[in-house]
Amino acid sequence: MDRRTLLKTGLAGLARVSAPAAPEVPWQRRIRRLGQLNMTEHDPVTLNVEEWADYWASLKVDAVLVSVTGILAFYQTKVPFHRKGKFLGERDFFGDCCAAAKKRGLHVIARLSPDLNWEDAVQAHPEWFERDEKGEAQHHSEEPRLFRTCMFSTYMTDYVPAVMREVNSLYDVDGLFTNGWPPYTNLPVCHCAVCSRLPPSGTPAYWDKLNERIFYLWKLYDSIAKEKRPSNFYFANLGGAIHCTANLKQVGEVCEWFQSDNQGRGGEDAPIWGCALQGRVCRAVQKGKMYTNVTGAWSTGRIRWRNGYKSEPEQRMWLNQSLASGMVPYHHFIGGEKGLGEDRRWLEPARKYFNWTAKHDRHFVNKRSIANLGVVMGQRTQLFYNLPHGVATTQEYMDGLYYALLEGRFLFDFVHEDSLEDLSKYSAVLLPNTALLSDQQCRQLSAYVDAGGSLLATFETSMYTERNERRANFGLAGVFGIDRAGDVIPTTGNAFYARIERPHEILNGFTGTNWLPGAEYRLPIAPVEDAVLTVVPGFVAYPPELAYPPQSRTDEPAVVLREKGKSRLAWFPGDIERTMWRSGHTDLSRLLQNTIRWVSRGASPVSVEGEGLIETFAWETEAGFAVHILNYTNPNLHRGWVRRFYPIPPQKVTMKLPAGRRVTRVELLRAETDVPFRVSEGAVEFTVPRVMDYEVAALGMES
Ligand SMILES: [Zn+2]
Repeated sequence: MDRRTLLKTGLAGLARVSAPAAPEVPWQRRIRRLGQLNMTEHDPVTLNVEEWADYWASLKVDAVLVSVTGILAFYQTKVPFHRKGKFLGERDFFGDCCAAAKKRGLHVIARLSPDLNWEDAVQAHPEWFERDEKGEAQHHSEEPRLFRTCMFSTYMTDYVPAVMREVNSLYDVDGLFTNGWPPYTNLPVCHCAVCSRLPPSGTPAYWDKLNERIFYLWKLYDSIAKEKRPSNFYFANLGGAIHCTANLKQVGEVCEWFQSDNQGRGGEDAPIWGCALQGRVCRAVQKGKMYTNVTGAWSTGRIRWRNGYKSEPEQRMWLNQSLASGMVPYHHFIGGEKGLGEDRRWLEPARKYFNWTAKHDRHFVNKRSIANLGVVMGQRTQLFYNLPHGVATTQEYMDGLYYALLEGRFLFDFVHEDSLEDLSKYSAVLLPNTALLSDQQCRQLSAYVDAGGSLLATFETSMYTERNERRANFGLAGVFGIDRAGDVIPTTGNAFYARIERPHEILNGFTGTNWLPGAEYRLPIAPVEDAVLTVVPGFVAYPPELAYPPQSRTDEPAVVLREKGKSRLAWFPGDIERTMWRSGHTDLSRLLQNTIRWVSRGASPVSVEGEGLIETFAWETEAGFAVHILNYTNPNLHRGWVRRFYPIPPQKVTMKLPAGRRVTRVELLRAETDVPFRVSEGAVEFTVPRVMDYEVAALGMES
């Protein structure tokens, strides 16, 4: 930051500091902070609206979400079946909140929930509701007085638009948002008259209809938002990371504001990187447009306290991951009992955090990610693939690979399966059991290899078409030079081994052993010349008397490695990333890391050397470049919540610089100090002396 900018920022004082941007950039792409007190039915008589608005203004948020809802009206609605909340009385609660926010210069998004309505609506409009196999309207699982509406019904084209238009006509809103729709993580199952005519849920044909409907409604609602003002827009509730239900590629085409409803973890065995992973999903589809993650300050997890604070370090790590992965941080809590919540512990930490980010906005406006690896996220595989023996989940494949990528300190992006047309940015593309791939997607990967790109793939990648039809051989058989030689082989007892046949770079660090662990499942492939690892079939684990290999050597490959021109190809017939996740086996992580290093020829645009488990993001920013380091070295890495942080020792950063760019300054935004740097051979080097939970090294540049 130069002196003039410093002065300007300083003078801005109490006014909101927005990231500088060209005037033609829509406001929603300039958002840097977001906030929401999710309103309850009781709030009209208990929330202190002025205090609420002051709070959000003090966080320097660019917008707040305010509930109009659809389940309960927070204003004097005239739309039939839009039931007024029982504490609303004659009050225009939405109007009061909207005006209070506007007075403080905040944008207001009207939040609707189209997913539920009451018994009287079921009586009058039976066609609006989801039905079970017996034709019964579906109760909500927690509140039996509420019923689940069907997204294929006229509820979505009559009732919801009526509420939207009424809100437009009454209030100065800047956009419309629907909570609770579209469905995510699961495909809906409904037996209403309309849905009975659709293909069966859980099939690709049903998914086509679902996406058709989602994007028809999305465009309808967006056009209604624009009736108010051309700059207004509509957006929907998304999230679920790789478990998102709507076609994410299509989402990226219509979505101005990607609202990830991925609020936090609980005490279950969930890895710490859940929010960063969501950010990678968003970046893959939003292409420079805004994306955010709703971070719950409330007690998230399977056992919930919606109105009580969680651990501050846990919430902070989620906000750190939002920023690091390119998302806009979003502070969310529920209910304004006693004015602004019974539990006020969540107010101050977020204020402090958001005001810190506001000082450094320029460094969080990202132009592009710097990464040399692409990880394909197979949305169709997640939705339709028949996982072996019904025990595996797509999340396990992804988390296994993710863990290895973090341990190896690689820089990677996610790539949607429908966005394989241009992979030239990446030196290697990784396919974690991406079972469903169309012929065209296989051709795109093949073209990438012909152009010198490298691939790593596992298990059943490309064994199915995009319609979930099993192929006789891999769709990528020709690319990898492999052929299927049987059916999936599971493990009974002792999983198979991979016998070391000859030295190779992927075996670096393995000494004193003739074999390595294989995987839980494998799809056997035909013998190849000069195999590096071969399969020693699994055998009995108990009794130990029988725990030896009846067949100690085969010619079945446990990995296939090829070089074609500049391209390097690695195929694992086992589900090794998932097995690594399930077993925790360090050999498998090392083998994966070595192989990723081999396919990408060890090249990385940024290296961070030092002790600890970290996640790194690097961005070209409005101000120059930024390297983000998240410190995951924590006993709560795999099970929430984080109690406290443990600092890691110095981290040495080396970053290659584009030709003609000169570094003028390296500033650590968390430590709020500059560090010395050295430039040599087109790279900048500096050391981050200590990372507690998170550090951002911001590189000021001269072009
Ligand atoms: Zn239906």
